[in-house]
Amino acid sequence: MIVIKTREEIELMRESALIVSKTLGMLAKEVKPGVTTLYLDKLAEEFIRDHHAIPGFLGLYDFPNTLCMSPNAQIVHGIPNDKPLEDGDIISIDCGALKNGFYGDHAYTFEVGNVTSETKKLLQVTKESLYAGIREFKVGNRVGDVGFAIQNYCEKQGYGIVRELVGHGLGSEMHEDPEMPNYGRRGRGKKFVEGMVVAIEPMVNMGTHQINQLKDGWTILTKDGKPSAHFEHDVAILNGKPELLSTFKYVYEALGIESNEEEEFRQ
Ligand code: MG
Ligand code: MG
Repeated sequence: MIVIKTREEIELMRESALIVSKTLGMLAKEVKPGVTTLYLDKLAEEFIRDHHAIPGFLGLYDFPNTLCMSPNAQIVHGIPNDKPLEDGDIISIDCGALKNGFYGDHAYTFEVGNVTSETKKLLQVTKESLYAGIREFKVGNRVGDVGFAIQNYCEKQGYGIVRELVGHGLGSEMHEDPEMPNYGRRGRGKKFVEGMVVAIEPMVNMGTHQINQLKDGWTILTKDGKPSAHFEHDVAILNGKPELLSTFKYVYEALGIESNEEEEFRQ
């Protein structure tokens, strides 16, 4: 069942999403060679609690930490550990926060030191595909329109779209209906209506779309060992159009990146 949100609820959800956005911005300054993902996880937990919110992933389905930390060939759901990040790594950080009874859920893939141009392109294309998907999240369109836009954008570059993990409705539950696959066919699936809120989150592999799972029961990684990227935004339908609730603004401020990519999704 799809739970439609009121205007007031959407504003509360924006608050939750922005706490995650600020957490990612704080982490952007800390991601560098030599730092461990467990250290970053502790910083994030403290930061979220200081903002009077609860880490959204900690304990959810028994996940042990605040952040999902997935370096390089890990796609999503990596568990923070004491292994230092290395120059040339990428690290996908997925973060959730619960405030006022609503979840934010939002992810960014960071470069650690200097990464190859091939890897930079993977991150760029994955992020652009997220916006291609968000553009289709509007009244009258369907779930398949978002999936098609993301898949089409990435497969043109020869990248693999992960099938087993998908975006989702978001609200008082972290995972609500509908499922939002990053692949699909135009005009198929559930129809979008005013007041829907979803997390759109392409997971894009440089090589094959096929995956493996580690014995820890959590970590999903690429079957061919090539890198994977993950970007996620929380989006509502407001006045028929996509309205971004989360923002990469704080990450960009921390990294000195100029961007107006989110402007088209603000009313
Ligand atoms: Mg997430
Ligand atoms: Mg999500």
